[in-house]
Amino acid sequence: MRPETSLTRVLEPGSARRLEQGLGFTTVQQLLDHFPRTYSPHNALTGFSGLREGEYATFIARVDSTSLRRLHNRRTEVLDVTVRDISGEELNLGFFGGRQFQRQLREGAVAVFQGKVRIFRGEPTLTNPSFDVLTGPHGQDEPASTDPEVGEVLPLYPATAKTTSMFIHRCVRLVLDQVDFSTWLDPVPEAVAEQESLPSLGEAYEMVHRPATMEQPELGLRRFRFSEALLLHGLMERRRRLAGELQGVPAPARTGGLLEAFDAQLPFELTEGQRSCGELIAADLAGQHPMNRLLQGEVGSGKTLVALRAMLQVVDAGAQAVLVAPTEVLAAQHLRSLRKALGPLADQTRTGLLAESGSPGPVKLTLLTGSLSAAERRQALLDIASCEAGIVIGTHAVLGEKVQFAQLGLVVIDEQHRFGVSQRNALRERYTPTPHMLVMSATPIPRSVAMTAFGDLELTVLHGLPAGRSRIETHVVPTVLGPRWSERVWERVAEEASAGRQVFVVCPRISSQDRSQEQIQRQLRDRFGFTDDAAAVSFTTARPEGKVVWVDFRREQAVEHLTNDASVEALARHFAEHPALSKLRTGTLHGQMPAAEAAEVMGAFESGDLQVLIATTVIEVGVDVPAASLMVILDADAFGVSTLHQLRGRIGRGRTESNQCLLVTRLPTEHPSAQRLTEVAEHTDGMQLALLDLQRRREGDVLGAAQSGTASTLRLLRIVDDAEIIEVAAAHIRRLTDSDPQWQSAPALWRAVEAWRLEHTGAEDYVHQS
Ligand code: ADP
Ligand code: MG
Repeated sequence: MRPETSLTRVLEPGSARRLEQGLGFTTVQQLLDHFPRTYSPHNALTGFSGLREGEYATFIARVDSTSLRRLHNRRTEVLDVTVRDISGEELNLGFFGGRQFQRQLREGAVAVFQGKVRIFRGEPTLTNPSFDVLTGPHGQDEPASTDPEVGEVLPLYPATAKTTSMFIHRCVRLVLDQVDFSTWLDPVPEAVAEQESLPSLGEAYEMVHRPATMEQPELGLRRFRFSEALLLHGLMERRRRLAGELQGVPAPARTGGLLEAFDAQLPFELTEGQRSCGELIAADLAGQHPMNRLLQGEVGSGKTLVALRAMLQVVDAGAQAVLVAPTEVLAAQHLRSLRKALGPLADQTRTGLLAESGSPGPVKLTLLTGSLSAAERRQALLDIASCEAGIVIGTHAVLGEKVQFAQLGLVVIDEQHRFGVSQRNALRERYTPTPHMLVMSATPIPRSVAMTAFGDLELTVLHGLPAGRSRIETHVVPTVLGPRWSERVWERVAEEASAGRQVFVVCPRISSQDRSQEQIQRQLRDRFGFTDDAAAVSFTTARPEGKVVWVDFRREQAVEHLTNDASVEALARHFAEHPALSKLRTGTLHGQMPAAEAAEVMGAFESGDLQVLIATTVIEVGVDVPAASLMVILDADAFGVSTLHQLRGRIGRGRTESNQCLLVTRLPTEHPSAQRLTEVAEHTDGMQLALLDLQRRREGDVLGAAQSGTASTLRLLRIVDDAEIIEVAAAHIRRLTDSDPQWQSAPALWRAVEAWRLEHTGAEDYVHQS
């Protein structure tokens, strides 16, 4: 029997049909790769005694009765389910929007339930627990406790009403009994399996599906995770190798060029990190093959300068460089700051200055964003196509088909977390020879994540910050504790401004009514943990009198909270009406302003004409205003950890001694989102924050837009928890490649990797173009 053998040849026709209808499985491999979600040590009903509030509980119980009712708002339906445990004790479960579960949870059905216990009217209860039906209501399967073939450990599978966990288990056992795994191709080379003490493929499937002890599943799973990690690194290795064979644009450093002149006029010393990263990059640029490098450095570490020096080296070689930023605000700021940094080395005029004899001619900087006028755009495209523009700065607009570089030598992507893989490669894949690529990120990426999501890039870390950076203190301001707390925030704003320093005030939104239903839905899920139609979650909140009590925080309240989010417009009104704040020179900035207006406001803030800038997260990345010393973030709980860390990085860039970031929240201090703020306040190291944050989030979120087909194909490998496996597997691949470049000793691995690579080589994959 082979992995792709049809289930109809192994199981009874009825069973095969049920698996196909219920789970879409048609092959032996699909069924065997359907791993249990969890395991129960005793193959029997469990007891309810000892369920404690706030605890995550797993138990097996029999459905006693169900009833459907509507909440007083008439829209939400609740399915009340009463279940009994082994001693006949009762427990009530509530399913919001539960009509869909009514068929599965019929009287007599036995299921394993999992969820958080809370106390409602003095009784323990679970709201929308997850569940797997073990045996259907009418004896479709034998009762869980009497199946003689099930050992001490009961695997619990993700199941549906008809394809219950018990049914799946029975089919899996039938298949396991018939497969001869020695005939299956195993991508894990024998030597590796031996060295890492991994069970064989067959043993691993047994351990996962038919464990003899509670420890076995983990041992079996480890083997499958390892195999995924090997494939992943194998794939990255192949991609690197193929990319390394592409013809690049060699740009060796030139004596007497722009880069030399630029270094000579730099008003400060490069940091140690900037110097060493610069050397690596310079050597890459000089090579025959395209560079493919991820430069990772803490907010404010001076990545732009590293990028600019790389761009100058490329321009010195007669090629063009493009810097792609995620927002127009940032692109415009880059243009201004590069012009400033280059001074006379940048061509400030349209016609181009004649260089003094012996010194390099100035480089022309060209901006290309979506909001240029038709005439400006035409001129920019012309400059780009004629090689007149040496350095192009732009947003996504430069990725467009109409943009044709005459001689593109280097693509720099700033703040890569805002771009997807395909965008990252879009520009590059259109050109032969292949331009170099430098990807920059201030969002700290733990090593295992970087190896997974950006494994085809060389990872370089820019260590250290430029000298003279001052400390930033971060405080959480919980306004539920009373109005005095918000007043104090505004006092700080006024104090700072009157001391000649500048203030950012960041709001989650532009105006009060600018949110779609979906956005609210998404926020309900992200911020309050509401899933689908689940309508209630309980946590502490504060009453107006300031007393903290336990209440049911209902969906309506959450919506109310969200629709009253702080907004730029509301805050601008607040500033205008406030006796002290109205005296300050205040500007507003958000992504929906016309670009020219936004540039004007940003310019006024940079020059110090404005004391306060009320903005959305358009200022999250890149914005660099040395006199800014106070950052106030309203409804800070609305933002993720990395956004908060980035925002905080906007201050403390000048000589000011005391810099403060205030995370203002209306949530009660016990709320998980408020505790996330405490974490941000307590840690200043971005990497540590990223790790803390990762532990709380799901893998998909971790990789975000960064994931190509590869990461989404990871089934079992957990990027954070399995960091060790990821590292070890990478080392094995390296060793294998060094000693046996064609992997002749591991043909099954080669085939699996190639199959995976071809499957995920879409139009977006530049490697394939070779
Ligand atoms: P990020 O890495 O977050 O993109 P930037 O490139 O915006 O950081 O740099 C932050 C600030 O530090 C800029 O104002 C830049 O001019 C300044 N800077 C960069 N390198 C140095 C250096 N070696 N010494 C002093 N200041 C520097
Ligand atoms: Mg930057």
